[in-house]
Amino acid sequence: MTVQIPLSEIDRARHEDLGDGAWTIAPDLAYLRLSIVNVVFFGMPGDHAEWVLIDTGLPTSRSSIVGVARSRFGSDARPSAIILTHGHFDHVGTVLELAKTWDVPVYAHPLEHPYLDGTASYPPPDPWVGGGLMALLSPLFPCGPIDLDTRLRPLPDNRSVPGMPGWQWLHTPGHAPGHVSLWREADRALIAGDAFITTGQESAYEVAVQQLEMHGPPRYFTPDWEAAERSVRDLAALSPELVISGHGAAAAGAGMRQGLDRLAERFRETAVPAGTKYVRKPATVTNGRAYQMP
Ligand SMILES: [Zn+2]
Ligand SMILES: [Zn+2]
Repeated sequence: MTVQIPLSEIDRARHEDLGDGAWTIAPDLAYLRLSIVNVVFFGMPGDHAEWVLIDTGLPTSRSSIVGVARSRFGSDARPSAIILTHGHFDHVGTVLELAKTWDVPVYAHPLEHPYLDGTASYPPPDPWVGGGLMALLSPLFPCGPIDLDTRLRPLPDNRSVPGMPGWQWLHTPGHAPGHVSLWREADRALIAGDAFITTGQESAYEVAVQQLEMHGPPRYFTPDWEAAERSVRDLAALSPELVISGHGAAAAGAGMRQGLDRLAERFRETAVPAGTKYVRKPATVTNGRAYQMP
């Protein structure tokens, strides 16, 4: 069903180990590898620095995130904003608590708001996409919604990213209707969210080992594969130099681009779980607010 992209074609980003699972990959870009998911910190390190948190991990991730924030930005570290690539449970686990503690706004694409303002749940995961235990257990994963109430804001229409000068958000739907990736042209850095990922996410073994490989979005949670393919093609066309995705290590350079190009070119055979329900009939957005169930 799948064709692996050889690991040798993907270069690791130049990581600097900050300890406790955190790594820098650019002077103003660091990420924290939590048990199954990444969060990203944007901002130059230093006391009272301006910074932004991208995604918020699992409900158990709070102390790890706050610990890295304090060591990087000072003991009273507080971001100017939280940006969500999308609203899946492993990306919003601490957002309610952190947004309240820090008293900061949370930005997401308007098509993602129903899952963040208490209006709608995501379509149920498909455990039959193959790949292993994570997929089989996926019906146990929460589908939301959460309610951020007045802290929730739409990403600006002009595609700027609040608190992140030089970056723009790109709508990369498919894995989720309002999924966004963040792009900085100056150094061709890409925060991809789950539009594509750099490790397998379907089996417990893959999640534990976190081997570096170019991989389509997590299959059990992706309800629109045609949109997901377009999004991967759009991101590959950017020819990024550095990528950090929602799952797996950061990657960089020509090998990463080659892997991403091959994922885009061979998306059907490498990423799409053939014959499964959301491949037969995507769950799509209706009226901009909710999914039509297949
Ligand atoms: Zn996701
Ligand atoms: Zn994810």
